Amino acid sequence: MKNLVIKGFILAAILPISAMAQLDPATIQKIRTEGLEKSQVMDIAFNLTDKSGSRLANSEGYARAANYAKEVLTKNGASNATIEPWGEFGKGWDLEKMYFAMTAPYYKPLLAWPKTWTAGTNGLKNATILVVDAKDSITLQAYKGQLKGKIIILDQDNKYKQSFKADAERYTDEALAAMEAAAAPAVARTPDTAQQRRMREMQAQRSGPQRVMNLLKAMAIEEGAVAMLTTATRNHDGTIFAQGGGSYKGTDPANFLDLAISVEDYNTFLRLAKSGTTVKADLEVKTKFHTKDLQGYNVLAEIPGTDPLLKDEVVMIGAHLDSWQSGTGATDNASGSAVMIEAMRIIKAAGIDPKRTIRIGLWSAEEEGLLGSRGYVKKTFMDANNQPNAAHAKFSTYFNIDNGTGKIRGIYAQGNTAAAAIFKNWLAPFNDLGAKTVTLSNTGSTDHIAFDGVGLPGFQFIQDPIEYSTRTHHSNMDVYDHLMQDDLKQIATIVATFALNAAQQTSLMPRK
Ligand SMILES: [Zn+2]
Repeated sequence: MKNLVIKGFILAAILPISAMAQLDPATIQKIRTEGLEKSQVMDIAFNLTDKSGSRLANSEGYARAANYAKEVLTKNGASNATIEPWGEFGKGWDLEKMYFAMTAPYYKPLLAWPKTWTAGTNGLKNATILVVDAKDSITLQAYKGQLKGKIIILDQDNKYKQSFKADAERYTDEALAAMEAAAAPAVARTPDTAQQRRMREMQAQRSGPQRVMNLLKAMAIEEGAVAMLTTATRNHDGTIFAQGGGSYKGTDPANFLDLAISVEDYNTFLRLAKSGTTVKADLEVKTKFHTKDLQGYNVLAEIPGTDPLLKDEVVMIGAHLDSWQSGTGATDNASGSAVMIEAMRIIKAAGIDPKRTIRIGLWSAEEEGLLGSRGYVKKTFMDANNQPNAAHAKFSTYFNIDNGTGKIRGIYAQGNTAAAAIFKNWLAPFNDLGAKTVTLSNTGSTDHIAFDGVGLPGFQFIQDPIEYSTRTHHSNMDVYDHLMQDDLKQIATIVATFALNAAQQTSLMPRK
């Protein structure tokens, strides 16, 4: 622990004083009072979750949330609030009806979520469950001609595993110390994990189980099967993890209906059907596609800078507003969006005029590969030849939240040593709230990468995991009740302070 303090001290000591400026204690106290004692973050979160519903990019829920965000930002004093296109996304998709129940050998109601961009059933169907045991395209041929009117279930081993660990956790001092002790990453720019993931997915499409799955779906459509059932490997305790069901480009046909169900229900179907019992189910799914406007839309708003020399320079805060379909995207990422909207409110309510402009970006289509933030960064900071433009030179820094509801424990400096020393200083007034760790490590997979990728300082905070990876991430349990009020207040307060600190510095955030 002591070593770490010394390391932070040395980092700070080698930087010029100008880069170290910190808001005065009275200003920080104003922000703390507004953020911790007069918070509106839970009301904002309620509007983004319960009131808007799930927020798949280009869905009706997304539009409700984007309109609300624009309104509340304006109501709380932000300027130039706008819902702005970032480029072509694809079709919107909404679920209009879903009914699923086992009807033989006995009646049992079931919970399921169609994957996004899948077709419906065209009315209520009573269908027999057919077990398909296809390891490759050759064994798959054995099922040719048998799929009409069936609900397909793959013969997979999805054994339920008891967990002896609590779902929710906070980082221990040891875990934070290990992060702080981590060396700077070898590569200057953060590996683009979203891009890597897409590459892996594309490779998977061409080989192995995913290829067999695609062949099966094509056969199912051709023969007129009703649906297929799938379950996620991390399914547990009835939780359903549901996300994309295939392509969403404007010209693509609807994907074959793929229902995500819990591992327990999946295994019940499988055991019964494999025992030779006739298993039947009633299923009705109605889905709706929006094809008129394929553009994707972000929400933006500003607190204009007031210093004549610095007001054209920009500090940004942001989070993705879109979600998957089964919950209401409470921790992924209404929490991030709500704290960013609240941070803007705190700055206005505290009556502090930023020297630089502070801009909020609420991104769409993060879940499909950071598409909204990438589109925004490209059109705002790059020229027609994809080279940095004048706005790129006047940009200071971007702060992101997208790791759930857990409070801030520190920040990932993405290998930027000069920024790391500044952050250590900026976190000092929040050490009492558990935020003190600065790691040079990279973190990926979310919208700060869109900035980092074009050489702009972009950062994501370290947040306590809580139940993010165990329970809520992309699941039907990602709902309002899983938000933690005190944690969100802390995040909004620290984000407001970081944004103001960056806005009031004599210089822009140092770049790598
Ligand atoms: Zn997500």
